[in-house]
Amino acid sequence: MKYASLGSGSRGNATVVEHQGECILIDCGFSRKSTLQRMAQLDLDPAQLKAVLVTHEHSDHAKGVQTLCDALDIPFYTSFGTARKMEWLEHSRWRCIRSEQPLELIGLKITPVCVPHDAQEPLQYVMNNPQGMKLGILSDLGSLTPHIVEHYSGCHALQIEANHDPHLLQVGPYPPSLRVRVAGNYGHLSNQQCAELVARVQWGGLKRVSAGHISEKNNDRNLVRELLAPLLNCHPADVDLLEQDVVSDWYQLT
Ligand SMILES: [Zn+2]
Ligand SMILES: [Zn+2]
Repeated sequence: MKYASLGSGSRGNATVVEHQGECILIDCGFSRKSTLQRMAQLDLDPAQLKAVLVTHEHSDHAKGVQTLCDALDIPFYTSFGTARKMEWLEHSRWRCIRSEQPLELIGLKITPVCVPHDAQEPLQYVMNNPQGMKLGILSDLGSLTPHIVEHYSGCHALQIEANHDPHLLQVGPYPPSLRVRVAGNYGHLSNQQCAELVARVQWGGLKRVSAGHISEKNNDRNLVRELLAPLLNCHPADVDLLEQDVVSDWYQLT
């Protein structure tokens, strides 16, 4: 199993997970054309893509889902709430998934996990391969719950949101109502909350942490590096941060 980010941030998110020559996308917040271009940079053929799992209806996650899946003739999986909001309940490619009810795709066991975020029924995902490796993808949540800590414990790789620095958010360009939303329990994870989760799920098997959904207006990437480096026992420069406009390298879980 390996994964890569096609891009991460408020203007679009998509993560590709590959296993035995087939792949799935977690979210498709880019246009079909841009998604396929980004996949090509990872030497992926569109025919390898078997499904898209959607976390929630916000456009930076769901914008390209329907057109991509229609073009490639593949299904997309979402919660009932996400599908209702997107008006996908009657769509022939839609498959309903529920929190806590694992499904199997491309040989991976995928468990949807409900998270607190201001969407209809948001889910995030943990994936296990048959060899026992575990990957966690976690973004767009306003707070940490025992449920989340439980599900993301034991990961060998973790892609997690580090959205904002609380002080930069307060002095930044957002209007007060949006600031309250982002900082709230159903908003986005601050750098400190990200670090707290990493500390709580840290164990000897966790080999890779990638921080994403980093705000361009309310954060400073160096702050993320400085917070995570001591937890990961690495130099700040070696903390892996995802980019909005750059496709990441593959990371292989072994
Ligand atoms: Zn988002
Ligand atoms: Zn969102």
